Amino acid sequence: MQASHHAKIRLTSLHVFEQIAEMICASSIMTSRNEFEYCKSDDSLTEKLRVMKKRRLDVIPIIQGDDLDTAQISRYVEQGDMEKKIEQGCRWCEEASTEIGSCDYLSYDLQMKDVISRFSKRAANSKIPFFLIDSTKQIVGLITVADLDKTAAKMYFFAILCELELSLLKIISGHYKGLKEICSCKYCREQRGKRAEKEFSGDTLEEYHYLNLTELLHIVGESENIRPAHDRIKSVLALDRCDDIIRLRNAIAHPKPLVWEEFPLDKLVKVHDIIRNLILILKNDANGQPQ
Ligand SMILES: [Zn+2]
Repeated sequence: MQASHHAKIRLTSLHVFEQIAEMICASSIMTSRNEFEYCKSDDSLTEKLRVMKKRRLDVIPIIQGDDLDTAQISRYVEQGDMEKKIEQGCRWCEEASTEIGSCDYLSYDLQMKDVISRFSKRAANSKIPFFLIDSTKQIVGLITVADLDKTAAKMYFFAILCELELSLLKIISGHYKGLKEICSCKYCREQRGKRAEKEFSGDTLEEYHYLNLTELLHIVGESENIRPAHDRIKSVLALDRCDDIIRLRNAIAHPKPLVWEEFPLDKLVKVHDIIRNLILILKNDANGQPQ
């Protein structure tokens, strides 16, 4: 039958999105060495501050040497520090600079999930989050929090959200015997009513194919007969993070910045951790279940 054939394609494509997510790494989102703004130690602090403000750069590295390709990079300047240093009478970039430490480096091929995790650790202290990207001991690029708005980064979040959605769908379909048996709360009854009003017909696809991400999360979190996923998902979602997952998905789907005032970096990394955690729980539960 057409319907079951269609349904099977959707469910067997599980983990393709995870594979896409794994292909996106630090090099996918970095600003490469020949594109990033830099300064020399004897550059004027006032002039560099003007350039940084104009280009909205939080941080720039200082190079030692004239040739960018061979220059050493061991210090950086932050926009926030520069104004204070100018007030104190400093004139040159070197005087406002900070030494780059080993924790400021990321490997060129580090996967996005680990890039986010490094941002998470960095966000915990007050330093401006940025990383230098190295490959075979040479600096090849720079990543700042602004790079999380690049298309490749959004593709990563899109891929893990799709993976989550398909994993939830798979768990629910494995337990599906009619949604009334799975959840009969007021919210689910209303959602079913809305679908019925739109002349939803079960002839082409099962009703669970029409569930949106909010409903998928809710059903697995609320339905005690979806075990063992239910118990663990309920504990993960206990902090009411469901709304943040939906907000992240909306931010990915629309051309607005991902990291902005209402969705700061620390919140983004928390939501990322929850999504990865949910995918892992669902993956473990799905093992051994019929396709
Ligand atoms: Zn419900």
